[in-house]
Amino acid sequence: PDIVADQNALENARRFAGKEHGLFIDGVWREPRSGSAFEMRNPGDGTLLGQAAKGEAADVDLAVRAARTALEGVWADTKPAERARLLWRLADAIEAHADDFALLETLNNGKPLRDARLFDVPHAIETLRYNSGWATKLGGDTINLSGPGTWHAFTVREPIGVVAAIVPWNAPFAMSVAKMAPALAAGCTLILKPAEQTPLTALRLAHLVEEVGFPKGVFNLVTGFGETAGAALVEHPGVDKVTFTGSTEVGRHIVRAAAGNFKRVTLELGGKTPVIVMPDADIKRAIEGAARSIFTNAGQVCNAGSRLFAHESVFDALVEGVAEHAGKLRVGPGLDPATQMGPVVSQEQKDRVLGYIEAGVREGARISGQGTAASGPGYFVPPTVLTGTLPTMSVVREEIFGPVLCAMSFSDGDLDAIAARANDTDYGLGAIVWTQNLSAAHRLSRKLKAGTVRVNGGGLDPALPFGGFKQSGWGRENGRDGIEAYTELKSIAIAL
Ligand code: NAD
Repeated sequence: PDIVADQNALENARRFAGKEHGLFIDGVWREPRSGSAFEMRNPGDGTLLGQAAKGEAADVDLAVRAARTALEGVWADTKPAERARLLWRLADAIEAHADDFALLETLNNGKPLRDARLFDVPHAIETLRYNSGWATKLGGDTINLSGPGTWHAFTVREPIGVVAAIVPWNAPFAMSVAKMAPALAAGCTLILKPAEQTPLTALRLAHLVEEVGFPKGVFNLVTGFGETAGAALVEHPGVDKVTFTGSTEVGRHIVRAAAGNFKRVTLELGGKTPVIVMPDADIKRAIEGAARSIFTNAGQVCNAGSRLFAHESVFDALVEGVAEHAGKLRVGPGLDPATQMGPVVSQEQKDRVLGYIEAGVREGARISGQGTAASGPGYFVPPTVLTGTLPTMSVVREEIFGPVLCAMSFSDGDLDAIAARANDTDYGLGAIVWTQNLSAAHRLSRKLKAGTVRVNGGGLDPALPFGGFKQSGWGRENGRDGIEAYTELKSIAIAL
C-alpha cells in the first residue's frame, strides 16, 4: 500500500526536529558542556531540519556515572518481570506513535516513508517485545562436578554492566532499539550514541523512555560525533561493554581503544553479501529477490546482496531482469509516496558511490543497466548493474554501501568452486542462495563463510542470530545469543 504522510503529523515531526534538543542523562534533558550543536539535514532535499546537541567527553563522563549509579542501585533492584513490563510498555508507546517515528526516520535518513513505516518501526517494536520476554528467562545451569567431595555447582548470568551503544545512520531507529532492548532486558544500563547524520529518532525514543517510566540513568542518550563522543565512550574506564554497528575501519579502531580495560565488544561491521543463483532456481523470484536485496535502502544495508553469481544458463535473464527493475525504480524523496528508492544519506556518500561506479568502469566493468537518479537537491544516485566485473576490482572487493550490483557468472556446477568464489572476500556477514534443489541448498549453506545464509528469500527476525564471520564483526545480535552477549557467566561451586 502507498503510505502517504499525514500533513499534521508531518508538521509535528518537523516541529519536533526544529525544537531545541539536549542530551538525555540521568533522566534529565541537559545542555551539552560544549554549549554547541550540529545540524540535522533531510537527505531528500538537503534542507536543515534542526540542530542536535554536541555531546563530548565531559557529557559522556556524566552519562557513564549516571548509568553506573543506576546499574548498581535502582536497576539492580528492579525485578526481571518489571524490566520486561517496561520494555513492553515502551513497545506499545512506539506503536502508538509509529507514524511519528516513521516520519522522523524518513526526514532524517531519507528512506521511503513506506519502508520506515512497514519495516524499520515494526522491527523495532518486535525487537523490544522479543527481548522483553527474555528478561524473565535468562538463567544458568546446574553442573555435575567429578572432583573429590560433594558439590552444588551452578552458573548464573549477570548483567555485563554499563553498555555503550554506537550506531550508524542507515537504519538508525531499528539499530538503536536492537542494542537497547537486549541490554536493558539483561539488566544492563546504557548510553546510546546515534550517528551524527541521524540522531532524530533516537531523540524521540528518549522522550518515550522518559514517559513510560524507566528509572533515571538506565537509558542515556548522548548525541555527538564519532571522533569525540563515540571515542570518549569507547575509551571510558567506566564502560563495561561496547556494542557497535558501523564500518570495519571504525570497528578496528574500537577494538584497540577498548583494550584499555578489556571492555567486552560486539561488532556488526560491513558486508559484501553474495547472491548465488543456481540453474534450477525460480528465476522470477530470484530476480525480484536480487533486486530487492541491493536496491532496498539505496543499497545502504550491511547485508545488501552486492555480488551476484549466476549460473551461465540463467545469467542473461538475471542481469536483464535486475537491470529492468533498476530502470523502472522510481528514485526520489522519501516523503513522496511514489518513491521506491530514496536518496543516500549525504553528499559525501553520494560522491563515494558515484566514485565506485566510475572506478569500476575505468577498470573495465560495463554498465548493463541503470535507473535514473531523481533530479533536484537530494542526494540521489542511480541504481546500477555492472557486468564484466573481476574479483580484483574495487567494486567487487570493497563495500560500496550504495545501489550497485556486480554481476558475475559461473559455468561449473561444482558447489566447492561456487562457494570458493562467494567466499573470496574479507567479509562474511550474509549469503543468499536461490535454488530449488534441497541438497544443493543445504550443502552450499554449510560451505559459505557467512553469519547468515538465506535460501530463497527471508528477512531479519529478532529471534534469529545476526552477525558476521571474518571482518564482518564479532559476536551476534538477536536471539538468545544476542541477549546473552549482554551478560557475564559466573560459575558458583559450593562444597557441601
Ligand atoms: P561509521 O563506522 O563511520 O560510523 C558508525 C558510528 O560510529 C557512528 O555513530 C559514528 O559516529 C561512530 N564513530 C565514528 N568514529 C568513531 C570512533 N573513532 N570512535 C567511536 N565511534 C565512532 O559507519 P557509517 O558510515 O555510519 O555506517 C556505515 C557502515 O556501517 C557500513 O560499513 C556498514 O556495512 C556498516 N553497517 C553494518 C551493519 C551490520 O549489522 N553488520 C549494519 C548497518 C551498517
